[in-house]
Amino acid sequence: MASKSETVTLIGAGLVGPLLAIGLVKRGFDVEIYERRPDMRRVRVSAGRSINLALSARGIHALTEAGLWDEMRRITVLMKGRMIHSAAAELAFQPYGKDDSEVIYAISRADLNIALIDAAEAQGVRIGFQQRCAGFTLKTGELQLHDEQADEYRTLEKNIVIGCDGSASALRNEMLKLNGFTFLQHYLDYGYKELTIPAGPVGSHALEAHALHIWPRGNHMLIALPNVDGTFGCILFLPFEGRDSFAQLATREDVAGFIRSKFPDAAAVMPEVADTFFANPTGSMATIKCLPWHAEGRALLLGDAAHAIVPFFGQGINCGFEDCTVLLGLVDRHGRDWKRIFAEFEKARKINTDAIADLALENFVEMRDRVSDPRFLFRKRVELALEARYPRLFVPKYAMVTFHRVPYATALQRGQVQDRMLTQLCDGIDRVEDLDWSKADRLIRGEITSLELPS
Ligand SMILES: Cc1cc2nc3c(=O)[nH]c(=O)nc-3n(C[C@H](O)[C@H](O)[C@H](O)COP(=O)(O)OP(=O)(O)OC[C@H]3O[C@@H](n4cnc5c(N)ncnc54)[C@H](O)[C@@H]3O)c2cc1C
Repeated sequence: MASKSETVTLIGAGLVGPLLAIGLVKRGFDVEIYERRPDMRRVRVSAGRSINLALSARGIHALTEAGLWDEMRRITVLMKGRMIHSAAAELAFQPYGKDDSEVIYAISRADLNIALIDAAEAQGVRIGFQQRCAGFTLKTGELQLHDEQADEYRTLEKNIVIGCDGSASALRNEMLKLNGFTFLQHYLDYGYKELTIPAGPVGSHALEAHALHIWPRGNHMLIALPNVDGTFGCILFLPFEGRDSFAQLATREDVAGFIRSKFPDAAAVMPEVADTFFANPTGSMATIKCLPWHAEGRALLLGDAAHAIVPFFGQGINCGFEDCTVLLGLVDRHGRDWKRIFAEFEKARKINTDAIADLALENFVEMRDRVSDPRFLFRKRVELALEARYPRLFVPKYAMVTFHRVPYATALQRGQVQDRMLTQLCDGIDRVEDLDWSKADRLIRGEITSLELPS
């Protein structure tokens, strides 16, 4: 237990900040958060109320540790698999996992954020809204805040500052000034647009509620995740330029025509798509890698501030929440030895966050293209058959990432080995019954060891 007098200052009350704050308060720290935006419980923040996220094992584990999952589960919608919509509006359901225990959960980003802020305040965390971090002197601990409402600056002295301020982190900008700080930012030449499918009569869902819907179209795609209120939060991913790109959608007619021709069954349930398209900004997506994550034993980056990833594995927040699990575990071990905690945190996480960044990029091709390819679907069936026969030896990559808390780096490395095996085993056959089991046995028992599956 820390002494009550030790204050930890977090920058950012997005998704990761309040969850970390709860864990620290429970360990006896005094915690304050400075957040740039207004309090989203009082001010309706921008568009995208219906926009949601997929929560899976790592996120759920962290929420459970904070004592929040049972409550939060009520504001989620369970998704059992992908519903693939073909260009001819035919549907094909692909379960995510081997059985009903392997599911993921859609949750509204705003509802999750509000629930976390409420829970943090209930635990005694102080949150200052409209307080933007405008600078932090790493040597002295002077934190400069800009009061966005009063338009005033003030400087406070802080001992421990953790940057949970997202992919455009102000704290990371300070670290950029450090000698030897490595910073890599890679933008995709794709953007995204948030759209909405409204609820049907009496809050019913216009599409199957318990699925993540995908309209894969080769170089672009639309996805939709269900909300508890009957709406779907949709995201349209398009290249910025070229064929089927944002550059070609300049008018309402362009947008309505594009959606009708590419996603006919989605168009039928999105009567206001052209309005929403122009009301919402076009987002960009980047992978950010940097090092070090900590400085002077007093500042640390965590969540998207340390490692933003593209959204195609649905792991950004799950990974950020797992950061909290790992950091709090180190606090339990090392008490107030922040220098050591920060160094061990970086060592434990960096290799894994680099791995999920790569996996997320790889999954973009899978989602927008391969999910409708019969060979890909056949490989998926073979994967499940292999998993059934070799439960701890052959665990599909998607399952390692999504349903288990296997370190991401292990999932990446084993996934590559398993992919090679699958290629060898699927070559020349198109029925699971024709699998050469003795070859499978030789490959699997010969090359992979039993996997720890942390609960
Ligand atoms: C289109 C899209 C879809 C996604 N889907 C998923 C998904 O399905 N599953 C998943 O796990 N992840 C998903 N993600 C990723 C997920 O949204 C992020 O990983 C997550 O929000 C990161 O949480 P965070 O708390 O680190 O940062 P954020 O949620 O960005 O929070 C940062 C907070 O810091 C505040 N802030 C910023 N600068 C300052 C400053 N100078 N001073 C004070 N406060 C500041 C911001 O206002 C914000 O409140 C998706 C991301 C995108 C873009």
